[in-house]
Amino acid sequence: MKTILVTGGTGFLGSNLCIRLIKNGEKVICVDNNYTGRMRNVESIINHPNFTFIEHDICEPLETEEEINQIYNMACPASPPAYQGSYSIKTTKTCVIGAINMLELAKKHKARILQTSTSEIYGEPLVHPQVESYRGNVNPIGIRACYDEGKRCAESLFFDYYRHEGVDIKVIRIFNTYGPNMDPNDGRVVSNFICQALSGQDITIYGQGNQTRSFCYVDDLTEVMIRMMNSPAGFTGPVNTGNPEEFTIKELAEMVVAKVGGKSKIVYKDLPSDDPTQRRPDITLAKNKLGWEPCIKLSEGLDKTIAYFKTQIELYKGEK
Ligand code: UDP
Repeated sequence: MKTILVTGGTGFLGSNLCIRLIKNGEKVICVDNNYTGRMRNVESIINHPNFTFIEHDICEPLETEEEINQIYNMACPASPPAYQGSYSIKTTKTCVIGAINMLELAKKHKARILQTSTSEIYGEPLVHPQVESYRGNVNPIGIRACYDEGKRCAESLFFDYYRHEGVDIKVIRIFNTYGPNMDPNDGRVVSNFICQALSGQDITIYGQGNQTRSFCYVDDLTEVMIRMMNSPAGFTGPVNTGNPEEFTIKELAEMVVAKVGGKSKIVYKDLPSDDPTQRRPDITLAKNKLGWEPCIKLSEGLDKTIAYFKTQIELYKGEK
């Protein structure tokens, strides 16, 4: 049994990972300040003897008595409305200071550490699909910069700790992911569209809806994260992790409306600035090195996610 620390463990991806690791028989220490994470995401494992929750902000150094074998560094506000709003400065601090604190912890414990980087480091990509060697096209002073540049700086820190401090690092770049434990109020496109359709509200497309994204179901993502963490030493990545099937946002809206039914109509709103026009991962490296590719199609994943939100939507009425 390994002792595994997950920062951002009560968030959407972090909680799915914690649940999977507990199922796999590991010991999990979940760390979160719950700014955007939610305890209800881990309620199914909260009393498990192998699960510990520590309320902690990784911008502060972390000490643990137990010896840690692996660290998944996932803490960061990740939805555009969250990191563009009151959490923007906190987002950069979490990416940068948080990464330093977790790298120092990894160094002290001789633990392997995996950084969850992001497709956002490619910015508005001029290369399509995006390969890991593409260096990106990021606006350093735009409203997404706190996240994009924060995550870029974190990658740089990881590679410097690898080169100069001998820390055993892994880096993945996560593309759009969806599924159970998404926060209905966090403003991301899949959760917005499903919740709008379920409650009979208008479906809000930003811009013309011609921009594209490639959506990965969370179970596929959890699988590749664990594969990457346990890949041979010296294989650092970065590795793109996502589903290479690309859809326009309009196509996504139409799929959700067709699945949920009801009387929602599609309305068009202003496109936020620096919103990437297209995004699709080239996952050749993940296929070759990790033997991984997503197996859940968007249609099937949407059905599961709609079923999840049906159970949740009542809970959130009136919140936030
Ligand atoms: N989007 C939209 N309507 C919404 C929420 C988002 O049309 O209610 C668009 C958004 O402008 C972007 C895409 O959907 O082009 C994906 O947005 P999301 O916030 O989920 O993730 P991003 O890929 O931008 O980080």
